[in-house]
Amino acid sequence: MDLKVLRNLSYGVYLVTALDGMRPCGCVANSIMQISSRPATVAVSINKENYTHSLISRHGYFAVTLLAQDTDPGLIGTFGFQSARTANKFDGLDFTFEEGAPVPANVGCGWFSCQVTGSYDAGTHTVFFARVTDGAPRPGEPMTYSYYHKVIKGKSPKAAPTYQPEEEPAPAGKVWKCGICGYIYEGDTPFEQLPDSYTCPLCRQPKTVFKAE
Ligand code: FE
Repeated sequence: MDLKVLRNLSYGVYLVTALDGMRPCGCVANSIMQISSRPATVAVSINKENYTHSLISRHGYFAVTLLAQDTDPGLIGTFGFQSARTANKFDGLDFTFEEGAPVPANVGCGWFSCQVTGSYDAGTHTVFFARVTDGAPRPGEPMTYSYYHKVIKGKSPKAAPTYQPEEEPAPAGKVWKCGICGYIYEGDTPFEQLPDSYTCPLCRQPKTVFKAE
């Protein structure tokens, strides 16, 4: 069996958001699909260790924001590589309440709100089945998971359903890699010469978290 075949499946990049009381929370998900149209129903796979998982399990409401190619990659860093247990991911972000879930304003190429109708225990993940209760497109080109990897040079967090260890062979020579999100610096300026104010473009962590490999 060669599980690399699964890397050729297509995915998008999404924010899945839910409320913790009145506090908006969320995470990044790539495994979301529409499974029927009448009523519009989706399936969403969420890692059980994600704080957002407990919120969806408890309340049954969440929203999905479809990220676009021009979405600030820092949002993926905030929502995908930090935990809502310790970070307020919506800090500095405008949002609205839609059908029991927070929706970031003016982010991505659309959003929809969901009410959970059932679930499937997939071991490390739960697949939530949910009816779409509202939603609207926004202008923009959807960000595919392939675009995220190839153009933005993003990595899969370990909690992603599609995570596979050692996704890419290490490039020859010394590379500077973000110790938080795995972003590999590929700029023209030698990493050592970057200003101390440099931050990871993906997870926004300081230069000091980068390690030479
Ligand atoms: Fe990073």
